[in-house]
Amino acid sequence: MHTPSLRPILIAGGGPVGVITALALARQGLPVHVFEAESRINDMPRAATTHAATLAMLADLGMVDEVIARGLVEPLFRIWDNTSGQMIAEFDFGVLQDETPYPFAVQCEQHKLAGMAIERLKAFPEAKVEFSARVTSLTQSDDGVEISVETAGGTRKVVGSYLIGCDGGRSTVRKALDIEFAGYTHPERFMILTTTENIGLRYPGCTRNYISDPEAWFSVFKVSGDELGPLWRVLSSTKPEQTDEELMNPEATERRLQRFLPKAGAYDIVHRNLYNVHQRVAASFRKGRVFLAGDAAHVNNPLGGLGLNFGIHDAIEISELLGRVIRREAPEDILDEYDLHRRPLNIEFVQQQTVANKKRMEEKDPRAREKDFEQLRRTAADPAAHRAHVRKASLIESVKKRAAVPA
Ligand SMILES: Cc1cc2nc3c(=O)[nH]c(=O)nc-3n(C[C@H](O)[C@H](O)[C@H](O)COP(=O)(O)OP(=O)(O)OC[C@H]3O[C@@H](n4cnc5c(N)ncnc54)[C@H](O)[C@@H]3O)c2cc1C
Repeated sequence: MHTPSLRPILIAGGGPVGVITALALARQGLPVHVFEAESRINDMPRAATTHAATLAMLADLGMVDEVIARGLVEPLFRIWDNTSGQMIAEFDFGVLQDETPYPFAVQCEQHKLAGMAIERLKAFPEAKVEFSARVTSLTQSDDGVEISVETAGGTRKVVGSYLIGCDGGRSTVRKALDIEFAGYTHPERFMILTTTENIGLRYPGCTRNYISDPEAWFSVFKVSGDELGPLWRVLSSTKPEQTDEELMNPEATERRLQRFLPKAGAYDIVHRNLYNVHQRVAASFRKGRVFLAGDAAHVNNPLGGLGLNFGIHDAIEISELLGRVIRREAPEDILDEYDLHRRPLNIEFVQQQTVANKKRMEEKDPRAREKDFEQLRRTAADPAAHRAHVRKASLIESVKKRAAVPA
């Protein structure tokens, strides 16, 4: 469909969710304009795990082959007890091979996903991605949206048919709509250290490992990396009272890695990053002609690798609903479906799983820890329970639940 007279759909934020939403709209022939505040794609180490349900969506966008080629395929994830050094449970997405062409996770960093989407957008003359362009305010009427965009050349007004706020956890769009971001922020921060050293030697046979410890849990993942080759990421928690200087100086980060994974000689540390961690869901994902998607709508701790995956599912859902309304295949009322379904699905599948994952990793009570471990062992050993667990962890279950209620 070609819609030359349609005002563009405006997207605030050119992170992975913003540009994937733009691609999903552009592929339907719809005009889109993405405004990204920064001058380039943010390549700090954040999401890397892309799950089966998301890989299927990226296949529909013509991206999955490149995601697999530039990522690392891993069907397994393992949970360890650091106090005993024992592996508690191994889960295998491979058991889902009869229900997905992608019975694995792919470790592909989010800046690569964003770059791939932007490359593909270049094929659509009516799709624009504008960097160094910050959305600062918005107004809306019954038939359109107007935003103010701040650039090096000054501030200008841009008019569109709809606006999708994909502008991350601190979303200006969400704040302008006066939508509450209900939930809480953890007192501690999470630290990511990445290194070229093969930490995987300690965890042979699997590149996605969660190590539970009542004092200092951590997780160890491998990602495909860029010019330096594969990188190992160690994610761990900090104490609320620790300052940036205490945590980030080279001696402290070296000590941290040596404590988790002792080795002779110093680590070659490529990234040192600290992140605030939240569990929050916007009170509504829509107000009139403005929608929220990705971290602008929901944030969660990264244990399970679910936040961006769910954000990509938001992108697909809102672009399909808008496409149908603009093509007049469905009444405007179906846009209500977006908030109606995405909010509860996020709470059920993303908030609940990530909260439970964090609790399991840091549990201090020995009896509760043993109970958790026993539960994990039983789940992993029982084929039906194992399947149910990985269907949830891969978000296949949430996609099936949504599909059972067609818009
Ligand atoms: C350590 C860590 C590990 C993680 N691992 C995983 C994982 O393995 N799997 C997973 O699914 N998720 C993971 N996540 C979560 C994932 O990183 C986020 O869910 C993801 O970045 C959300 O993408 P987004 O596009 O919604 O938001 P963002 O990536 O935050 O992008 C928002 C963009 O909007 C821009 N912006 C902000 N304000 C404005 C404005 N006013 N105007 C214009 N532009 C604006 C920003 O510059 C930014 O580029 C992890 C997070 C962390 C911190």
